[in-house]
Amino acid sequence: MKQVLAMLLVAMIAVAVPRIAAAAAAPAVPPTSASVARAAAAPFDVTAATDAYMAQLSPQARARSDAYFEGGYWLILWDALVALGVAWLLLGSRLSARMRDAAERITRWRWLQTALYALQYIALTSVLTLPWNVYEGFVREHQYGLSSQNLEQWLGDQAKGLLVGLVLGTLALVIIYAVIRRATRTWWLWGAGVAIAFVVFVATIAPVYIAPLFNTYKSLPDSPLKAQILSMARANGIPATDVYWFDASKQSKRISANVSGMFGTTRISLNDNLLKRSSPAEIKAVLGHEMGHYVLNHVYKGVVFFGLIIVLGFAFVRWGFEHAQRRWGARWGIRGIGDVAGLPLVAALFTIFLFMMTPVTNTLTRSMEAEADAFGLNAARQPDGFAEAAVQLSEYRKMHPGPVEEFVFFDHPSGWNRIHRAMIWKAEHIDDPDIRASESAAPPAAR
Ligand SMILES: [Zn+2]
Repeated sequence: MKQVLAMLLVAMIAVAVPRIAAAAAAPAVPPTSASVARAAAAPFDVTAATDAYMAQLSPQARARSDAYFEGGYWLILWDALVALGVAWLLLGSRLSARMRDAAERITRWRWLQTALYALQYIALTSVLTLPWNVYEGFVREHQYGLSSQNLEQWLGDQAKGLLVGLVLGTLALVIIYAVIRRATRTWWLWGAGVAIAFVVFVATIAPVYIAPLFNTYKSLPDSPLKAQILSMARANGIPATDVYWFDASKQSKRISANVSGMFGTTRISLNDNLLKRSSPAEIKAVLGHEMGHYVLNHVYKGVVFFGLIIVLGFAFVRWGFEHAQRRWGARWGIRGIGDVAGLPLVAALFTIFLFMMTPVTNTLTRSMEAEADAFGLNAARQPDGFAEAAVQLSEYRKMHPGPVEEFVFFDHPSGWNRIHRAMIWKAEHIDDPDIRASESAAPPAAR
């Protein structure tokens, strides 16, 4: 079913690809005084070139990706409501208090009580949210032809994720609650500190111990393209062996690449969909972007930015927990912040906080993505490859949102924005020999 939808989508895009060479070559507007000098030397119309790339997508393809992405706006709200509903159920039914009582009957060791509660909590919330996650992660993905998994394979990945969550989540909760109980007044600061340290720990081990549970990672096979990628890496001060590829096609046909890990484990990975579906120019453009994340230390900056968000989140939880505890603590059977039975309340407050912070976290991420875009254009010098990638990414990201919409909901620059900036870069470099040569060798539509 999904394969059929995927092929249909590809066919729709292929049919819609227009001849855009003529549009890209001829300026549509008379040059203004500011651009006269440049335009006389090298006529390249940024607006027309941007429009030509946008026109590669049929109205149907645009409508489809708009619907998929705009549906995602509502999912942010529904995800939060589902999480709040689960928390309310655990607290209101006193199930949370009973889970804690059961743990206390089994052992007198505080840390082990926390661990036993955490295991019950993670397992139970996973079961309660499973129907919603099946819709959001499986049914909906298939409706839009984005998944290549059957239900069994998808559930297999979910089970692996649950196991990882049980181990790491329990470990994190045992440490955080131990710290919270020792610092009765400043627990929110210490708790945030432990949470940040744990994020760093997980980010460090993820490429080596977690990602390989879901996908096979290999060194990129030898090819002229690989040599060019390694050359670009060396030119930008990146350890030359650190380019991996992985079999993301077993989950979906989305093209993507990423930078993951910290300290010794940092690596750049591209997925097999990108290798299979994209031109060499496009692959170089995407890897230039990923190298930007690496060189600009976005992983470390991300820890600082999101560390601040985590501190604010804990401050919000401290405020909210005290209020809720005073009103409903007795009814829910919660003794205080150090009582692990209050975890659903902590989770609910974090859910509310992160929901309200959506535009902030998206803008933090999107700003770094825009930096990586600029770096990648300069490093790879493939503005058309980058525009092609932006067109392909439109399968799951709305191409041309309004400015407020982009600010609130986009964690990457929109496709239109990326194409437009790539075309501006191209216009400013149109007289460079390599850009000139690629322009005369093959117009974008021919690739
Ligand atoms: Zn990126």
